[in-house]
Amino acid sequence: MTVSIWQQAHRRRTVAYDVVVVGGGIVGCATAFWLHRHDPSLGVAILDAGALGSGASGRNAGFVLLGTHKDYLTAIHDYGERTAHRLWQFTRENRRLIAELNGDAFGWREQGSLTVAGDKDEDDRLRRALPYMRAAGIPAVYLGPSETMERLRARGFRGSLYCTSGAAVDPLRLVRHLASQSAADVYTYHRVTDVASGEGGVSLKTERLNLRADSAVLATGAYLPRIVPSLQRFVRPVRAQMLATHPAPDQFLASPVYSHDGYFYVRQLENGAILAGGGRHRHRETEVGYEDATTPAVQADIERYLHTHFPWTTNLRVESRWSGTMGFSPDHRPIIGTVPGCSDCLFATGFTGHGMGFGVRMGQLLADSLYLEEQPNAYDLFHVSRFESRSPAA
Ligand SMILES: Cc1cc2nc3c(=O)[nH]c(=O)nc-3n(C[C@H](O)[C@H](O)[C@H](O)COP(=O)(O)OP(=O)(O)OC[C@H]3O[C@@H](n4cnc5c(N)ncnc54)[C@H](O)[C@@H]3O)c2cc1C
Repeated sequence: MTVSIWQQAHRRRTVAYDVVVVGGGIVGCATAFWLHRHDPSLGVAILDAGALGSGASGRNAGFVLLGTHKDYLTAIHDYGERTAHRLWQFTRENRRLIAELNGDAFGWREQGSLTVAGDKDEDDRLRRALPYMRAAGIPAVYLGPSETMERLRARGFRGSLYCTSGAAVDPLRLVRHLASQSAADVYTYHRVTDVASGEGGVSLKTERLNLRADSAVLATGAYLPRIVPSLQRFVRPVRAQMLATHPAPDQFLASPVYSHDGYFYVRQLENGAILAGGGRHRHRETEVGYEDATTPAVQADIERYLHTHFPWTTNLRVESRWSGTMGFSPDHRPIIGTVPGCSDCLFATGFTGHGMGFGVRMGQLLADSLYLEEQPNAYDLFHVSRFESRSPAA
């Protein structure tokens, strides 16, 4: 967009805040929410390049699951038992914090969730994870193949883990609710182009505004490297696609379903519509980058998945299709840190397809990081310093 000489005089002005949050997704809005809870007198602004929730937070399936996007056994293998357990605890706190909000404002549903095995290997992993989960106090029950299929009126699955704590939301309404409860000034369609250390704090620029803040938080998801290119090695853009059908005549799915190692996911809304997404593991070369577009190949795979496993979906007309850009971190767990050369500016990124499971608690952690004297609990779990001794995989 260009700006005429006449418009410029009226446009560029400088405003000052205690904290500027860049990014109006789940993480940014939760940060502003917790800052307000911490101290209602703080002057906080949320800036977004589009509308609130215009990124992944307003485009996802709304699953609020515990743990990482991997099954618990794989998480133990990848991170070690203690870290896997701490990550699980963090997501449990995230769920508790959401449950304490006014759930009517964002369609809070606590029906548990099913992690369903698509093949024998996944089934083995789910079963072998169970004793570790029990030892860690994680509530889960293994359901054999026939019970799983009966519960879902499905076919072609193996067994599943029913997790009583699984929940779901309308993610866009949750984002808006957090923003409205934060009392922050919200600047939508303000893309931040520049962030720098300055005047004893942080200075930020959009096309129309100069901002000054004591501190800033960059919660821009996959888009972080567009503001701070040196952080590119910590997050890469990965596309996810979804579809929604015409309402089914009955309620078939009582709880969200996460299957094939999370590469497919399905839920049914109150009005009967089926939401389904995934399939990108079969199209890894195309499902990268920032382009907001659906592709016939991925959409056909999602439909095939639905029709194969949930035969009652076969005649449901697809009503909408969409995509969203997720930020993947090198080790698939969120990353927080300080922007290089700007000590008063924090960043949080890399939620790797699982940001609803982390975001509200992460906003609290970021707010605590700005105002607590001591390092907040779990800060080390996500801090970027874990990559300092090794170079992250691409
Ligand atoms: C299709 C799909 C399904 C998913 N399903 C689930 C699910 O069911 N459960 C789950 O836990 N996770 C799911 N995810 C992942 C989840 O949506 C993300 O992990 C989470 O939303 C990330 O939140 P965020 O706040 O970090 O980023 P975002 O929501 O992407 O927010 C970043 C914001 O920053 C803004 N921004 C970017 N650059 C700038 C700039 N320069 N200036 C100002 N603003 C800027 C963007 O406009 C955007 O609004 C899914 C993702 C997709 C795409």
